[in-house]
Amino acid sequence: MIIVLKPGATDAELQHVLERVESLGLKTVVSKGVKRTVIGVIGEEDVLRAQPLAAIPGVEKVMPVLKPYKLASLEFKPEPSVIKVGELSIGSGSFTVIAGPCAVENREILFEVAEKVKAAGAHILRGGAFKPRTSPYSFQGLGEEGLKLLRECGDEFDMPVVTEVMDTRQLPVVMKYADMLQVGARNMQNFPLLTEVGKTRKPILLKRGIAASIKEFLMSAEYVLSGGNANVVLCERGIRTFEDSVRNTLDLSAVPVVKGESHLPIMVDPSHASGRWDLVAPLAKAALACGADGLMIEVHSAPEDARSDGPQSLLPERFAELMAELKVLAAALGRHMPATDKS
Ligand code: PEP
Ligand code: MN
Repeated sequence: MIIVLKPGATDAELQHVLERVESLGLKTVVSKGVKRTVIGVIGEEDVLRAQPLAAIPGVEKVMPVLKPYKLASLEFKPEPSVIKVGELSIGSGSFTVIAGPCAVENREILFEVAEKVKAAGAHILRGGAFKPRTSPYSFQGLGEEGLKLLRECGDEFDMPVVTEVMDTRQLPVVMKYADMLQVGARNMQNFPLLTEVGKTRKPILLKRGIAASIKEFLMSAEYVLSGGNANVVLCERGIRTFEDSVRNTLDLSAVPVVKGESHLPIMVDPSHASGRWDLVAPLAKAALACGADGLMIEVHSAPEDARSDGPQSLLPERFAELMAELKVLAAALGRHMPATDKS
């Protein structure tokens, strides 16, 4: 249920509506838009139906939300959300690029890659310290040591850092070092994890599950939003299909579909989507052209020696070429690619 207040409704009127709704045991989330304040009501809504809410001063209308996702829906918030990560703003016209190695492997590689992606214009540094690997015998990440290196490197090159949290038990340590928390594809429906990150106020990069529908993807975002954390950025990273020439099939239609349903920004990860470095640039350009709010791209200085995801990692030089092309394309499309002090 959504309660739309009249333009110019006072704070006292807003408070009165909130108290009235909360006294029924329901939760409220307030969205103050440019023109209107909207109150999202979550919980068992049946108790509300019997209430003459439209008669309360300041209330313009009360509307049911037909979609299963409420706070993620455009009905709740018609304007696109802009999510702050440090000084950066993701969404609403700007095109943000996250780049870095799949995993933090050691200081030398991380710093070399970070320096080069920063020089090429990347905005946020990525690097996994807790890696979700198919095999228990594969490199699992450096854990806290990796987080420390990532933090140090982000500070050195003045870039916010994003890294994956796989488990609620890892949350305190990841919170300590990261500017943005990544919930990976394999955890998109880890509901206890979504609930816990929803209690934080860190920006969350929520990746689409490998076999998740867009509806399920938005329902996972709803978990985080309903916990009170409005800072959700979605990331399309390819889904499982019968096609085996690529690691996953990039569902670019998810970008305009999500934009027709939700105010949340959506980025695209062409690296995990394709599993092939030679497909990263064409898919990245397509993502920009179809309206994505940014990209996540894996870059490694020696992909053949990478401890994870070498075949899909771009060399820094190729990443720089791609960034130059993206800047031209962004300008032609009327999109804004925030400048960095190095680019
Ligand atoms: C990653 O970005 O490091 C990752 C493992 O991606 P995904 O969860 O999309 O597979
Ligand atoms: Mn990877």
